Amino acid sequence: MILVIDWSAIEAKWRKKWHDEKYFEAEPSSQKKFFVTVAYPYPNSPQHIGHGRTYTLADVHARFMRMRGYNVLFPMGFHYTGTPILGMARRIQENDVELIEAFKTLYKVPEQNIKEFAEPVKIADYFHQEIKSGMIEMGYSIDWRREFTTIDPVYNKFIEWQFKKLKSKNLVIQGSHPVGWCPKDQNPVSQHDTLGDVEPSFTEYILIKFRYDKYIIPTATLRPETIFGVTNLWINPNVTYKIASVNNETWIVSAECARKLEFLDKKVKIIDEINGSDLVGKKVKVPERNEEIIIFPASFVKSENGTGIVMSVPAHAPFDYQALEDIKETNNIDQNLLSLIKSIVPISIIQTEGYGEIPAKEVIEKFQIENQNNPKLEEATKELYAKEFYGGKLKQNTGKFAQKTVADAKEEVKKWILQSKNADILFELNDGPIHCRCGTECVVKLLKDQWFLDYSNKKWKDDAHLWINEMKILPEEMRGEFNYVVDWLRERACARQHGLGTKLPWDKDWIVESLSDSVIYMAYYILAKYVNKKQIVAENLGDEFFDYVFLGDGDSKKISLTCKISQDLLENIKNEFQYFYPVNARHSGRDLVPNHLTFFVFNHIAIFPKKYWPEEIVVNGSVLMEGKKMSKSMGNIIPLRDAIRTHGADPIRLAILISAELLQDADFNLEAVRGIKNKLENMLEECSKYKPGQTKNLEQEDRWLQSKLQQLVLEITSAMEKMRLREALHYVLYEFDSDIQWYLKRTESKRRKDIAGTLHEIFSARVAMLSPFAPYIAEEMWEKLGNAGTATKSLWPVVVENKIDAAALQSENLLKSTLEDIKNILKVTKISPKRIIIYTSDSWKTKAYQKILVSVIKGEMNIGVLMKSLIADMDTENVKKDPDFVKKTVNDILSEPVESREYKAKLGLVEEKKILLEIGSLVQKEFGVGVEVFAESDPQKYDPKNKARTARPFKPAILIE
Ligand SMILES: [Zn+2]
Repeated sequence: MILVIDWSAIEAKWRKKWHDEKYFEAEPSSQKKFFVTVAYPYPNSPQHIGHGRTYTLADVHARFMRMRGYNVLFPMGFHYTGTPILGMARRIQENDVELIEAFKTLYKVPEQNIKEFAEPVKIADYFHQEIKSGMIEMGYSIDWRREFTTIDPVYNKFIEWQFKKLKSKNLVIQGSHPVGWCPKDQNPVSQHDTLGDVEPSFTEYILIKFRYDKYIIPTATLRPETIFGVTNLWINPNVTYKIASVNNETWIVSAECARKLEFLDKKVKIIDEINGSDLVGKKVKVPERNEEIIIFPASFVKSENGTGIVMSVPAHAPFDYQALEDIKETNNIDQNLLSLIKSIVPISIIQTEGYGEIPAKEVIEKFQIENQNNPKLEEATKELYAKEFYGGKLKQNTGKFAQKTVADAKEEVKKWILQSKNADILFELNDGPIHCRCGTECVVKLLKDQWFLDYSNKKWKDDAHLWINEMKILPEEMRGEFNYVVDWLRERACARQHGLGTKLPWDKDWIVESLSDSVIYMAYYILAKYVNKKQIVAENLGDEFFDYVFLGDGDSKKISLTCKISQDLLENIKNEFQYFYPVNARHSGRDLVPNHLTFFVFNHIAIFPKKYWPEEIVVNGSVLMEGKKMSKSMGNIIPLRDAIRTHGADPIRLAILISAELLQDADFNLEAVRGIKNKLENMLEECSKYKPGQTKNLEQEDRWLQSKLQQLVLEITSAMEKMRLREALHYVLYEFDSDIQWYLKRTESKRRKDIAGTLHEIFSARVAMLSPFAPYIAEEMWEKLGNAGTATKSLWPVVVENKIDAAALQSENLLKSTLEDIKNILKVTKISPKRIIIYTSDSWKTKAYQKILVSVIKGEMNIGVLMKSLIADMDTENVKKDPDFVKKTVNDILSEPVESREYKAKLGLVEEKKILLEIGSLVQKEFGVGVEVFAESDPQKYDPKNKARTARPFKPAILIE
């Protein structure tokens, strides 16, 4: 009979119980607490499968910690701030057919609601409810009493307080700084605003001003100190350049560069054009050097990079060196020009240990680069740059910078030539082009007189580094990336002119942007519960309230009067904050590392005392659909609630978690979902077979299974602690099976009837460990097992040391491996067995084995040394007759896990023959023949093929006829 499981009925049943009995409502208590949060969703469209990963990971974490005895708080809010919702509303107002169709058919939004979507808040409210329902249906163990949105009036007060605090510490500053910018929207852009959710970052280049006639020809470089080594310029002869008045000078730059300069607050006026080819062969003056160099043609120069003209430093830039070599080989070039090119001698200006006169040439030879199209040129450049930057010193031909390190000189040269007006600054977007959600290509704009969070602040940066190096980060490999982000972050525009959100308290024309009002809101979850009960009212709240609750500053009596809150209530709120803070684990997708997660660390450091800084960040990768990226254009987006209805919440949770460890991309595919569903249904059926009770006489296989359980509990717990959920889940779902199968095989062959008790114990532990992953079906299994209470409230299994029976482990392993060997022989020889004979090794071999084992554990594996000591001992001197024995035994030992080596050493000599007598019934059942077991030394043994002498300890010899 096939058991038909009604997944949605099971989900509804347990969801109701959890809700009715307030399972997830966390209040301060005497228990240890664990506060887990996850980046709140942005409700401008419903959740799809891809969103499910981070929340599911956090939920598993929350449930695991609850089972370990922690008082876990796992809350959720909704992020309304910012422009994407406005953009969505605008598209509805403009009657965007594609968007309206997607709402109707994909997300099944009722027509009446779509009409209301012209109003941004209606969009947010609708999808807020939709997302929340999905989270409840997924079984997330959230304390919903603490829900809020970022446009709630008390939240606005909270953000105002946050910003006043930052300003009082000079961390919000007014100034002119570069930002990523959408020219159409006239707004700064961050990750939320760009297509493909890219965080715009940019690099500062130094423009070196070369002079030609009355013109300035600027080139962009990251290495201003190399002006002393410039030998020529490169220009693209096929590009038409602009002659433009830039402030009060006349510049020659590419059209793209002229546009970039406009956004960097320069007065740019195009006067004329000039072909690149017309500039080839012309001489330009090098600033600060009073020398002239020539412009050479180069098709590799791209008009969109820098100014579209580059300077050439062949001694230190592998690319320039190779380009000069390549151009010497071309024949379609003017002969006069060619002889000029051939006369160029690289100017060496940096001395670095390990390099000679022309380092660029040396790395090119080392990387075996033969022309400028070789992709290894990039690598060669990086290597040389790093070596010179950290280990190089400037030579005598660099004037007053001689003897300085490159690292020092870089900044000094920059200052020096900027001061003499022989240089300027250009900002370029990294990894461009980046597009705004409106489709416009983003630029870097120098934003004037605006409000910035000063992430350039040295002290703030240093503190952030220190804390990032101290806090827990999972997976560990992300730590470097966080440090890297802290380094490159600089002033960040923190306010916008449009969008939902909180007004800047001192300048009401501005709205705090979405990646700045979402950095310390975890503290707000404490308030939200009281706000929702209407015990806190926005209009009564002043900054002193937040100072008191979050920082413990001020006089509660006074604050109680001004904020119209009873002193008791004020105390309760403060105590609750002090109980739950800091955040113990923050979960988020990897895409938020370069912004949100790093800002989260920065802002906690700025506002809270150290004891409230976040303890841990957990970062995860994204989700693929059947191996492909999920996107609207691919048509492979599955709304989460649809998927729950079709497949059930638990199978979806497991399918997302089991395909990848934290940082890898998970692959959601329907085959995996079906497989998991089957697996869970089979487990449920198994559970109804075993009721609580004790197996009275524990036999070897019972003790073995209990020992294996202890080992699994240890493995699974340690995987869970590192959030290696894929690994943990594999143990729970599959590793148990092979152990249980062996146990069933053993007990069946012995015709035992008293096994329910042992299996009940194993299944109960297994279901408990399944429950954080698949909470609904685990409850159902728990009930079927006849256990009291619920799986959710059960305790996480712990290892019981005295249930680990080393002898049982060793004996059963010997039986398993011997049975396996018999199977393999039969498979290879393809004979149908009539007689099976097993020979156990001679007693000198078991003694020698023990001696070798002890040596290997101590780290002594030298065959000669082992041999010598064995021969010296009368008990083991027989090893002389079998010189291969030592090497083979060392290999046998090394192929075993360390733990089992130790068990074996602890147990000492064992009687294999006695253990192997138990194999008879197994072999009989499996192959239909009996087994005879002989000792190698038995003079009466049947051994026509002289096999017995090949027996080794734990590797008996086998003869099959
Ligand atoms: Zn735009």
